[in-house]
Amino acid sequence: MTAVATKRSEPEKRTRKRILTGDRPTGPLHLGHYVGTLANRVRLQDQYETFILVADYHMLTTRLDELGEIEQNIREDVLGNLAIGIDPSKTTIYLQSLVPEVTELFLYFAMLVTVPRAERIPTLKEKMREQNIAQPSYGLLGYPILQAADILMVKGDLVPVGKDQQSHIELTREIARTFNETFAPVFPVPEGLIPEVGVLPGTDGQAKMSRSIGNTVNLFDDPKTVEEKVMRMYTDPTRVHPTDPGHVEGNPVFTYHDFFNPNKAEVEELKDRYRKGKVGDVEVKKRLATALNAFLEPVRERRAALLRKSPRIVEDVLREGSERARVEARQTLHEARAAMRLDYFGE
Ligand code: ATP
Ligand code: MG
Repeated sequence: MTAVATKRSEPEKRTRKRILTGDRPTGPLHLGHYVGTLANRVRLQDQYETFILVADYHMLTTRLDELGEIEQNIREDVLGNLAIGIDPSKTTIYLQSLVPEVTELFLYFAMLVTVPRAERIPTLKEKMREQNIAQPSYGLLGYPILQAADILMVKGDLVPVGKDQQSHIELTREIARTFNETFAPVFPVPEGLIPEVGVLPGTDGQAKMSRSIGNTVNLFDDPKTVEEKVMRMYTDPTRVHPTDPGHVEGNPVFTYHDFFNPNKAEVEELKDRYRKGKVGDVEVKKRLATALNAFLEPVRERRAALLRKSPRIVEDVLREGSERARVEARQTLHEARAAMRLDYFGE
């Protein structure tokens, strides 16, 4: 830090509440992301000033051996958001590492969270279990605190995320309150926006569709892949013959039908026949594959159209969005430092 006053561009006046949400660039976006957060992002982007974070620092917490993929994953993440309906002229999509100010805020926040509090966050144990991590790194332990810094850096009011992230929103709220009470009221206390339906199960029947587990149907899977994944899906294990009465509740095939098949009459009829042992898994799955492909077809088409129109769209969107986010970040840091008396030279 120098004594020379630097010119700071002022952030735009806020007229709308803000959304901050994002994804780790660990692989292609999937139907779980759609259910947990993408649908809400698209729905609310006119109402809220929306920031979408491509969280590449977060990828470092568990994927140090896979960084060769990161560029491709960043691309896929941005294209996924755009193809599902995010409009970059309304919404800021940015790359975390292009706004390195967040690491400074993370440092300040790290002083406000005890080690036992960080250890109690359930996603830590989940991540360790899912990815066979015997001992968490210091960075993995701190990742929900980094997430709090992501959210509060742009002063997010609302955070649309999947249910698995609830504990991180709680921590973020605690950090915002503690900071405000200890120093000065700089931060909003954000709300999570978590779909009531919960977490979308995986094709293997596990509770969560997740890239780390490898049980996903991706937004850009081609029609044949979708069909193959659906035909291999986990279904009611108690049912041996199509004439056995089947279970609909907790059966992921029907969970997906509920989400993605707009023909509710067809879904109800299938459920009814399934319970009575009057329809086989093959038919139920074939119809699901058809519904999923009908849902995904326009998404694939939009991706192709975007790239045809502008092959460098990802770079353009990220560069512009990151500059915009960085203006906000600098302003927030300025306020945080002032509140903490870390602005000896008034910067
Ligand atoms: P990773 O295994 O690398 O953590 P992931 O598939 O869990 O990947 P994230 O990037 O951690 O994806 O999640 C991005 C967002 O999508 C979060 O808001 C998360 O809650 C939501 N999400 C991810 N999977 C699901 C799911 N199966 N159901 C509902 N929401 C989900
Ligand atoms: Mg995750």
